[in-house]
Amino acid sequence: LFAGVALAPRDPILGLNEAFNADTRPTKVNLGVGVYFDENGKLPLLAAVKEAEKARLAAQPPRGYQPIEGNGAYNQAVQKLLFGADSELLAAGRVVTAQALGGTGALKIGADFLKGLNADAKVYISDPSWENHRALFEAAGFTVENYPYYDSATRGVDFAAMKACLAGLSAGSVIVLHACCHNPTGADLTDAQWGEVVEVCRERALVPFLDMAYQGFAEGISEDAVAVRLFSASGLQFFVSSSFSKSFSMYGERVGALSIVTADRDESARVLSQVKRVIRTNYSNPPIHGAAVVGAVLASSELRAMWEEELSGMRLRIRAMREGLVGALKEKGVAQDFSFVTAQRGMFSYTGLTAAQVDVLRGEFGIYAVSTGRICLAALNEGNLGYVADAIASVVKA
Ligand code: PMP
Repeated sequence: LFAGVALAPRDPILGLNEAFNADTRPTKVNLGVGVYFDENGKLPLLAAVKEAEKARLAAQPPRGYQPIEGNGAYNQAVQKLLFGADSELLAAGRVVTAQALGGTGALKIGADFLKGLNADAKVYISDPSWENHRALFEAAGFTVENYPYYDSATRGVDFAAMKACLAGLSAGSVIVLHACCHNPTGADLTDAQWGEVVEVCRERALVPFLDMAYQGFAEGISEDAVAVRLFSASGLQFFVSSSFSKSFSMYGERVGALSIVTADRDESARVLSQVKRVIRTNYSNPPIHGAAVVGAVLASSELRAMWEEELSGMRLRIRAMREGLVGALKEKGVAQDFSFVTAQRGMFSYTGLTAAQVDVLRGEFGIYAVSTGRICLAALNEGNLGYVADAIASVVKA
């Protein structure tokens, strides 16, 4: 049965993790994986999460099945974070939300639902994009192509090329957009550019699919939802996948959601019924714990305030690391201007380091980065910043 099974290629980033774990050098640094570490290099367990978990443990709730679409209070809290508590769309019953297994699970449910709606549509992702976007939509049966996005010359977005491409796509094409903190480049659209993207989607009758995996990591919770808010105001129908993996540091609990904006309440009921069918035939219903904890934090003004402070602490620490790295490289006499690193947002930077330079970082210094030159700034801290800056300085000056 399995004699002809070929060995699948290793996931490039998880493969990097395995190599990092096997490295015995005490000075090793993992800038590969997209995870936030605190100033001590540890994965934080947020105090707001701890408090909510303590209360849940004390209450010893029963473990029955959840509804297919998950925890209703959690789903409503997700909607308020994404669309705003006073959203007209929410009041009009135009948003359907289903708890999902992380952002990845939300993308997968959305992809499967879309495949049933329009099997022939093509899906367009940014060039480059989170590597799982392509695999995930291809696994759902779609042909996936790129739209231009990153401009290595400016280290920003080639918006003219992006817009021109979108303007040439056929009606019904699905456009996957990073709502904020673009992974892997860190280069985001401006608010004005988002407005133009909304208009192109309207003119060409495209299907926008916003992926929001880092809400709160760029400027703030509502500031980072600007794309969702602009699409909301447009009257268009669209998808949003969202994740609390990073913003609650709850990666392994798989807490995310798929939200779909419809034309009216009646459409919402029909769309939800189909989304539930997709979920039912995949995993029946989602797990309880993570969504209950996030829901409890968002429902309590005290815990919510605690969470917001912890989230802004993460955001500000990453920003400080961006500034620290740029400053240290300058101090070490690197002529190349790295100031673009402070303009990029979220956890990542496309540093412009070549695959060969990344190899040297790994081989000589035990510093692990993705071969594309992507580094995760959230893995830097006061303890390793100088070492990493020295290493980068040595490879770029070589
Ligand atoms: N979308 C993007 C752009 C991401 O970077 C990630 C996480 N790396 C995800 C989705 C998936 O998030 P989750 O871990 O919650 O599945």
